[in-house]
Amino acid sequence: MKSTLLHLAMLLAFCGSVHAHGRFIFSPNGGRIIAIDSVTTPNAELKVSADRRFEITFLDKDRKPIALGERKVTVTAGDRSAAKKLSVEAKGDTLITETAPEGTDYYVIMQLREPGAAKSVPFRLHFNTIACGECKEPEWHCDCGSKKSGKNVEVPADLAGVWAEINQHTEELHEGTTDKAYEAIDEVTEAFPVLATALTAKTDAAKQADVTKLVSDLKTALHGVREAFAARKPAEANLHLDTVDKTLAALKALYPAEIANAKLKE
Ligand SMILES: [Zn+2]
Repeated sequence: MKSTLLHLAMLLAFCGSVHAHGRFIFSPNGGRIIAIDSVTTPNAELKVSADRRFEITFLDKDRKPIALGERKVTVTAGDRSAAKKLSVEAKGDTLITETAPEGTDYYVIMQLREPGAAKSVPFRLHFNTIACGECKEPEWHCDCGSKKSGKNVEVPADLAGVWAEINQHTEELHEGTTDKAYEAIDEVTEAFPVLATALTAKTDAAKQADVTKLVSDLKTALHGVREAFAARKPAEANLHLDTVDKTLAALKALYPAEIANAKLKE
């Protein structure tokens, strides 16, 4: 019995990973953006050429291309048992690898060496080329995850539902910032202001002025968190995270406890 349950749990976990992934971030020209834990090189944009070479361009905190300069990258790709180091060549400010190994689902592990840095910074791409059932793009390049997240988050119709989402996003904000999960923070700091704004419209006229002011403070603080993490300077977010908590506490005091503390249904 126990092993059957375990098997079922594993099966469910497996199905989940096949049919759903988190939200990916894309550049305006369709490259996949990967966060790097570096102040001077905060993002990489990855594309794959028609002849299956990885093309890597570095981006600043606002996701604008930066000059390659003296940066060096090593790239390893392929199934774990046969991962291969790929040669890399610079073409302008883009690094291009040799043809990637066969395989439909493996990790591309990149190590960035910045000029003068004592050690390299890793970043990676889950290169899954199986077509998404919904958009038919290869999974690594599928944007379906953004349909109902970030600024496209679905706003519940009633106040308790909005608070449940806000409470969920508060948890995700704290988890993401603790773990320095840059891509998760990007999502949550886009969705949270949308939910906070929805609060105002669903509140009685008598409390609207107070709520409007607090929601505005909350959005400013969330923007501060977003900017600090986009610049890969987590310490600069602390003050803003504090303001998020204090402002939320003041907001909650304006609603009945059972509404302000509502949780999402499982
Ligand atoms: Zn898709």
